[in-house]
Amino acid sequence: MLKGKVAVVTGGTRGIGYAIVKKFLDNGAAVVLCGSRKETVDKALEKLKAENSGYEVSGVWPDLGNYAEVEECINQIKEKLGKIDILVNNAGISAMGSIYDYKEKDFKKIMELNVEAVFNCSKAAAVHMREQKSGVILNTSSMVSLYGQASGCGYPASKFAVNGLTKSLARELGKDGIRVNAVAPGVTRTDMVDAVPDAVLKPLIESIPLKKVGEPEDVANAFLFLASDMAAYVSGEILSVDGAAMS
Ligand code: NAD
Repeated sequence: MLKGKVAVVTGGTRGIGYAIVKKFLDNGAAVVLCGSRKETVDKALEKLKAENSGYEVSGVWPDLGNYAEVEECINQIKEKLGKIDILVNNAGISAMGSIYDYKEKDFKKIMELNVEAVFNCSKAAAVHMREQKSGVILNTSSMVSLYGQASGCGYPASKFAVNGLTKSLARELGKDGIRVNAVAPGVTRTDMVDAVPDAVLKPLIESIPLKKVGEPEDVANAFLFLASDMAAYVSGEILSVDGAAMS
């Protein structure tokens, strides 16, 4: 579904991002995965190459909160691979806790990665996509971007902003042939969820209409659809993949 396409995936070293990288590679794309450190990027590349030595995959680790660094990195990818067809802004962090104890610096940290990095990467990639007259920008939102949550207000706030960027950029960039969409995962089986004690997880699963947590591959499938030409007339959409928990 993505034969001949070049994709950049942030937060591609583990969890949902890793599943997206693998799904894109299995569908014929060349992928540049982006992580926070060289060590974690190398580890992910090693794992992918062990699965399939033919994968066309490489890695980068710019500071996503720094526009100049992001721009240089995106420009180098374009120079090396000739184009950028797909950008997935997936890197993200969260933190729970009451507003009474919430530190200003923690709120800023979440905003820097979950929102500013989406702006930085989208701006740097859109320049090339406009020249190509085509491109796809996809963002990882969250089910908490629809109704918020009762703890850790910074995270849902950041994902509401991701939805805002998605809708706004879809309207602004459509004329340049660029589609912009987001996927809003529900509770998804990543390291974070695996660490949740059964006593907490069980009632959570009971509250989900499909009675199970999502797998990273469930989310990656939605990204594949939105990245592909099958979604050629889909833009500005926030696609929930949450077992009907919030959708
Ligand atoms: P994860 O912690 O397993 O992976 C996060 C990824 O982001 C890693 O690849 C990490 O290297 C990267 N990252 C973290 N800080 C970074 C930084 N400063 N610079 C560059 N990269 C950085 O998380 P995940 O659960 O796979 O989450 C991926 C995305 O999905 C996030 O945007 C998250 O908000 C969203 N999400 C996750 C769930 C869930 O249940 N797991 C639900 C809804 C939304």
